[in-house]
Amino acid sequence: MNPIPGPKSQSLMEARLKHVARGPFHTAPIFIRKAHGAVLEDVDGNELIDFAAGIGVTNIGHSESSVVQAISEQAGLLIHGSFNVTPYENYIRLAEKLNLKTPGNFHKKTFLANSGAEAVENAIKIARAYTGRQAVICFDHAFHGRTYMAMSLTAKAKPYKQGFGPFCSEIYRAPFPYTYRFKETPGLKPLEREALCVEECIAQFKNLVLTQIGATQVAAVMIEPVLGEGGFIPAPQSFLSALRSFCSEHGIVLIADEIQTGLGRTGTLFASEQLDFVPDLILTAKGLGGGMPISAVTGKAEIMDAPIEGGIGGTFGGNPVSCAAALAVFELFESGELLSRARSLGEVLRIRLGDWFQKFPVIGETRGLGPMHCYENGLIVMNAGTYGNVLRLLMPLVIEKGQLEKGLGILEKGLGTL
Ligand SMILES: *Cc1c(COP(=O)(O)O)cnc(C)c1O
Repeated sequence: MNPIPGPKSQSLMEARLKHVARGPFHTAPIFIRKAHGAVLEDVDGNELIDFAAGIGVTNIGHSESSVVQAISEQAGLLIHGSFNVTPYENYIRLAEKLNLKTPGNFHKKTFLANSGAEAVENAIKIARAYTGRQAVICFDHAFHGRTYMAMSLTAKAKPYKQGFGPFCSEIYRAPFPYTYRFKETPGLKPLEREALCVEECIAQFKNLVLTQIGATQVAAVMIEPVLGEGGFIPAPQSFLSALRSFCSEHGIVLIADEIQTGLGRTGTLFASEQLDFVPDLILTAKGLGGGMPISAVTGKAEIMDAPIEGGIGGTFGGNPVSCAAALAVFELFESGELLSRARSLGEVLRIRLGDWFQKFPVIGETRGLGPMHCYENGLIVMNAGTYGNVLRLLMPLVIEKGQLEKGLGILEKGLGTL
């Protein structure tokens, strides 16, 4: 293997620094030319194992053939019409599919946009229009995107919010039940400790709503069922169920941000399914288009219908080529094998990371590892977490056994050097 980054990557990086704004970060300074399945090929001809999937997007694998075919067929027919000018069928078909596949046995409707942040923005507009209220509650460690409302809901100051204020008003933040960093609880078993953490977070949540904001002022509560950017922390089921009861009791719209967890990432189509969680609105984006930009807000029909005609929309939202790709993604999941592959991948990782937890003192929990760089050895892997010390594994679900083994080997070697 050639040195990474190779000469072509290095010279492109010089051009990048000259012509592109400093802001956008790179996990690795390597320019990619093509990708297939779970392998990236860079401009110098190096192959890299992909444990990032373009930030949890290409769950179905890079350049998956049925998605490529759907995209090229659709591109030959209609690349853009704008749903706001003259509608087209595959927008409707994708909405129908999302309404059917998302949690909740009630009449649902869907609105399509382009990015995760845009889904977040629209969900808040819809919840405010429906309730006639203003306050929005979000959580510690949350990541909801980079546009103004989404950034205001995002927890982490640096780099996401630094220098960008003032932020949107009427946003309140409650503690997320992060048991690992919960206070010392000598003598308690892990499940008792979790229960105590949930109890305290719920008490603080209720105190915030009832004493500081007023329940009748709250339009929406937005939560990631598993924190993504915030460090892959699953919300305990008991916490979500307490939120569900509270929101139902007070007429608050409960929104699940499944932008990172959705479309098979957790072994079911949506993480909410495993957590027995039925939100009023659910947001999807990353994995939805198999690599094409598209996002959706899906939820209770009466809530979704609150904005007046023309109140929500956009030039590009629900682009026909992206819709075709998303329908192909759903078809892949419906053939069944992908989700069971995701579950066995999860099992392999659980066992392997469990071993690492025993072996490497630097590991505090098997969902979190110390910061490191692996790309020189041919692996692309991303970090996460409020403290930047969580290693997140987001490989395409179709990764082959040998590729997975190779990637984990590189990671293990890296851990050994810490
Ligand atoms: C990535 C992400 C977003 C923002 O999506 P963009 O497409 O980058 O705007 C929002 N919420 C969660 C949970 C995400 O992981």
